[in-house]
Amino acid sequence: MMARFRYGDEILRGEVIGSSIEAEGVEYRLEEVELLAPSDPSKVICVGLNYVEHAEELKMDLPAEPIIFLKPPTAVIGPGADIVMPPSSRQVDYEGELAVVIKERCRCVSARKADDYVLGYANFNDVTARDLQRRDGQWTRAKSFDTFAPLGPFITEADPSSLKIETRVNGVLRQKSSTSDLIFSVPELIEFVSGIMTLLPGDVIASGTPPGVGSLSAGDEVEVEIEGLGTLRNGVVAGS
Ligand code: MG
Repeated sequence: MMARFRYGDEILRGEVIGSSIEAEGVEYRLEEVELLAPSDPSKVICVGLNYVEHAEELKMDLPAEPIIFLKPPTAVIGPGADIVMPPSSRQVDYEGELAVVIKERCRCVSARKADDYVLGYANFNDVTARDLQRRDGQWTRAKSFDTFAPLGPFITEADPSSLKIETRVNGVLRQKSSTSDLIFSVPELIEFVSGIMTLLPGDVIASGTPPGVGSLSAGDEVEVEIEGLGTLRNGVVAGS
């Protein structure tokens, strides 16, 4: 598992070993560092409507091709950081998702070769101002507020084909599914996205959310937990 963290004035990357992180030959205890988002992407590419059950829940036809949109890198926050609800929205929703982190610069990668370009996987929360999404008719404003892209806590190597995924709010289970229910698999998403834009090291592809999305309120704590990837935990506060 790979971590990115702040220690004093330094930002470091290291390997998580038990309750320590080893970085540049030095061992740090997890509790003495501030974990940051494990990647610092040039872009975050998100996939809309990519779970069969979620499409059924919304009574929507299964898409023939992935529907993608971008979140700016300035929206990314790490584990433990607060999601700030913008005053311009009255409905901020969580969306627990599996994120892929890209290992090296690539374009036009075939699904068959996609795994060669994957650094690892992380929990992701595609926080969305649902009312603004409906009002605007396109998604940029609703998806792009600062803090609307929690990622972490680590980047972990995994087989993404069948991982349990859960989202909890204040400890109450809200989403429960498996990545085996994805309409477009991770390799297919890498082929599709890299056929459009060059992917750079650290770029993130978020693979879509299962059924059970719902709203957040100030004071909530939201957790996304994917099998083997740890738990991404973030508080929610009202912005001003
Ligand atoms: Mg989403």
